Amino acid sequence: STVLELKAVQRHYDQGEEHLAILADADFSLSSGEMVALVAPSGAGKSTLLHLAGLLERPNAGDVVLNGRACGALGDDERTAIRRNEVGFVYQFHHLLPEFTALENVMMPQMVRGLDRTEAARRAAQLLDYMRVGSRAQHRPSELSGGEQQRVAIARAVANAPSLLLADEPTGNLDPDTAVYVFEALEALVRQSGLAALIATHNHDLAARMDRRVTLSGGKIVPL
Ligand code: ADP
Ligand code: ADP
Repeated sequence: STVLELKAVQRHYDQGEEHLAILADADFSLSSGEMVALVAPSGAGKSTLLHLAGLLERPNAGDVVLNGRACGALGDDERTAIRRNEVGFVYQFHHLLPEFTALENVMMPQMVRGLDRTEAARRAAQLLDYMRVGSRAQHRPSELSGGEQQRVAIARAVANAPSLLLADEPTGNLDPDTAVYVFEALEALVRQSGLAALIATHNHDLAARMDRRVTLSGGKIVPL
C-alpha cells in the first residue's frame, strides 16, 4: 500500500531578493516494503524533502499524505503525534543520547509513547539483536564504533514500528566496508518489517542496490 505521497509540493526559501525554489509542484509516491534512494548533490534539497516527508516542515503549497491522511490541514500537535507513530529518522551522525546505554536509547521513543518499561526493554533488546549489536546493549554510544552507533540509531528509529523510515546519509560517516555492513542490516530490517524507506545517499553502490533511485531536478522528484 502507499505510505507516502507528495502532491504538487512546493517549497521555497526567500532571503531578501533571493528566491530559492527547492520543490516546485513535486509529486512522489512510496509504498510499503519499498526502498528508494534519493541521490542528489549537496544543496539540492534532500534534507528539505526528508523534513517535508517526515512532517518536520510544511510545504508552501501542495500536501504530504501519510498513510492516506492529508497532513497539511492538521495542527502541530496532531502532526507531532503522527510523526512519533508513523515515522522513523536516521541521520548521518547518530544523535544518540550520550549518557544512556544503547538499550536505553532504543527504549526511549517507546517510553515517550507511554509504553511499559519492561515491554520497551524487551523490544529494544530484540531490535539490537536484529541489528547485530545486541552484545553492546549495555554500552554507551561513546564506547561503540561508528558502525555500531549507526546500527543502534537505526534500531531506535524503528522502535515504535513506524511505517516510514527516512534516512539522511545514514552511512555517510562510515568507511566503505562498514557502510555496506550497516546498509545490509538496514535492508534486512526494511524487508522483514515491510517499511517504506527513503534514503538520501551519495553512495552509488548502495543506491544501485535499492528498488528505485530518484533525484531532484528543476524542482521535481524524477527517476535517476
Ligand atoms: P541537501 O540536503 O541536499 O544538501 P538542503 O535541503 O539542506 O539540501 O538545502 C537545500 C537548499 O536550501 C540549500 O541551498 C540550503 O542552503 C537552502 N536552505 C535549507 N534550509 C534553509 C532555510 N531554513 N532557510 C534558507 N535556506 C535554506
Ligand atoms: P564495526 O565494524 O561494527 O563498526 P569496528 O571494527 O569499528 O566495528 O570495531 C570493533 C570493536 O571495537 C567493536 O566491538 C567496537 O565496539 C569496539 N570499539 C571501536 N571503537 C571504540 C571506542 N572508541 N571505544 C570503545 N570501543 C570501541
